[in-house]
Amino acid sequence: MVKFPIYLDYHATTPLDPRVLGAMLPYLTEHFGNAASRTHAFGLRAEAAVTVAREEVAGALSAEPREIIFTSGATESNNLAILGAARAGRAKGDHVVTSVLEHRAVLDPCRQLEKEGFRVTYVAPDRHGVTSADAVAAALTERTILVSVMAANNEIGTLNPLAAIGHLCKERGVLFHTDAAQAFGKTPLAVHEVGVDLLSLSAHKICGPKGVGALWVRSLNPRVKLDPILYGGGHERGLRSGTLNVAGIAGLGAASRIALAEREAEEARVRALRDRLQLRLCAEIAGAFVNGGGAERLAGNLNIGFPGVRADGLMMDVRDVAVSAGSACTSATPEPSHVLRGLGLSPEEANVSVRFGLGRFTTEEEVDAAAERFVAAVRRRREAGTPRPALPPK
Ligand SMILES: *Cc1c(COP(=O)(O)O)cnc(C)c1O
Repeated sequence: MVKFPIYLDYHATTPLDPRVLGAMLPYLTEHFGNAASRTHAFGLRAEAAVTVAREEVAGALSAEPREIIFTSGATESNNLAILGAARAGRAKGDHVVTSVLEHRAVLDPCRQLEKEGFRVTYVAPDRHGVTSADAVAAALTERTILVSVMAANNEIGTLNPLAAIGHLCKERGVLFHTDAAQAFGKTPLAVHEVGVDLLSLSAHKICGPKGVGALWVRSLNPRVKLDPILYGGGHERGLRSGTLNVAGIAGLGAASRIALAEREAEEARVRALRDRLQLRLCAEIAGAFVNGGGAERLAGNLNIGFPGVRADGLMMDVRDVAVSAGSACTSATPEPSHVLRGLGLSPEEANVSVRFGLGRFTTEEEVDAAAERFVAAVRRRREAGTPRPALPPK
């Protein structure tokens, strides 16, 4: 028997893996020390947990532990990377390149840089939703100091060619940041192979706790310099002051270790479930179209449009399956998703698109039950004769 409600919104957040909770609990109870209190056993115990976690996160990136800066999540990591690198590089130039498909946690710091006098170019994706190295190359100028392009998109799941963009940036002497909140733990991300200089990640997207993440900062060739965005006790090599969230960091470490160990098997399993869901919805719902379907995508992502049936209404009909219309992060605003619009969809096409996110605890039974409910709900809405005619197939 399937248990309702079914959670298929893994891009918004993920359930905490019980193994991760197990790794965190001691640091919420008996080992409550401050990791900066090196003068006694309580502090040393906490510091030891942070050291292990730093190795685990670095290990998942094939990086050095000292290059990991713990933060409150990918939003903070993106702010530190973008504001920090641009402000520290001001003497070299004043131009930043990013893409129109980025998460708000990248776009908004870029807007802030514009207020500070930087110029920002927002590169458009190709028709599949991919930001190509050629498009980035065309945007570079003599004054460019930073490129920020996400590893995997949080709405349509498309993967960007990081290695090609990294190669280009290296050639031009420009720093390359990637928001890997969705890709970390799900795609191979050895930082030296993909050629990035700064990488943001978040625990709660990989079955870890909310409110903790990290920024990887390259320490060699080049040694990346950042201006901090928080000032205080000088924790995390002066880049992120504030008492460390020891339990959260222990959770991020465990989540990273588990994701690394199980990534390949998990990816295949989740991809098979996603393909099953996609096949069934496309077979049983006339005109269904997959956003980003022409590109390499995250295994657990399915962003799909059902012509003539608005996603918000559909989600009300299928309340016991948790999915998302557009991006959960921006769903407080009624406008159609900037990602779907950036992909070239009309407002109508964007408004009929639903995002399914599958992950570690998703089962075949859940996928089948979800498909059945969505197929039935779309048919009901269409038979009820929505005045809006079905869009022509693309
Ligand atoms: C979730 C997400 C973020 C924000 O991460 P938080 O840890 O919640 O701050 C940023 N970028 C992308 C691509 C995301 O998916």
